[in-house]
Amino acid sequence: MNIQELIRPTIKRLKPYSSARDEFQGTSNDMVFLDANENPFENGVNRYPDPQQRKLKTVLSEIKGLPTQNILLGNGSDEVLDLIYRAFCEPNQDNIITLPPTYGMYSVLANINAIEIKEVNLTDDFQLQVDKILEAANKNSKILFLCSPNNPSGNSFKNEDIEQLLKLFKGIVVIDEAYIDFSDNPSWLVRLSDFPNLIVTQTLSKAYGMAGIRLGICYASEYIISVLNRIKPPYNVNELTQQKAIELLSKKDIANQQIENILKERKKLNSKLELVPFVLKTFPSDANFILAKVDDATKRYNQLIEKGIVVRNRTTQKGCENCLRFTVGTSDENIKLIDTLKSIQ
Ligand SMILES: *Cc1c(COP(=O)(O)O)cnc(C)c1O
Repeated sequence: MNIQELIRPTIKRLKPYSSARDEFQGTSNDMVFLDANENPFENGVNRYPDPQQRKLKTVLSEIKGLPTQNILLGNGSDEVLDLIYRAFCEPNQDNIITLPPTYGMYSVLANINAIEIKEVNLTDDFQLQVDKILEAANKNSKILFLCSPNNPSGNSFKNEDIEQLLKLFKGIVVIDEAYIDFSDNPSWLVRLSDFPNLIVTQTLSKAYGMAGIRLGICYASEYIISVLNRIKPPYNVNELTQQKAIELLSKKDIANQQIENILKERKKLNSKLELVPFVLKTFPSDANFILAKVDDATKRYNQLIEKGIVVRNRTTQKGCENCLRFTVGTSDENIKLIDTLKSIQ
């Protein structure tokens, strides 16, 4: 597959903005920087951040075992996904394929960018309909979004189905691994060199506990990363975010302990949810949340709000009629949730 042919012509022609920090990347601290019109009085944030986030990428590169040239960072996954749209999808011409029920941002970003959305539903047990997806695709289908583990269903897609799509879909396949750290399935990162059309996205917002700093991560071939680099805003990841991410990523044991705790709590919560009389069914989860079918989702959602507990009502999503999505909280929070569910009529 020729990835270059998938890039929008206007992006191929683009001459990127060259920032002061791109033109001179000083390594020694005793340089005098008079090139970026910054305020010279030091306060920790008076300088522009590194546009290539080299320190942070080096840390991530070591954790993930991938060269920094295969990594692009953004202001949350949302920015990363938007960059992918702008690199590959021509407004009012191209389309993308999403698989409801899934993460809502794929279609919001398509709408913002004037890209047609083709929807192919997941099966009743939230798996991929490979043939239908391939049938829905045409020559203008530039991106297929696979969210695995999937939000809001929580399950992972079958590896052999994903592999089929990577081989047969003639566009970019984005595998959104926001919840991969809660799953026993290995990340698709290790397959990047096998599939030139594969983009894997991850985030520090979930397992790593840094939703507040907004850091999304994109892994792809060096070529795709170089294209995305040309269109990203020069200073898209701010200095405080870069510092905090480096600090917290160095405390890997804490994140790992928290993930283990959340997995233990997920199991407990699941078995307790199944004992609640109006919970009809819970769906198997590889993520830090559980989707459950109840008798009347909107009624139960409102009752929980009244008791001070906010969950996500997913009843309007395809295949999620009367479903609530429960994020796994601390042990105390989960006990409070279960006690409350048992107390409401
Ligand atoms: C939460 C979530 C993200 C994370 O988005 P950020 O912008 O990085 O916080 C990405 N994809 C899915 C499917 C999610 O549920």
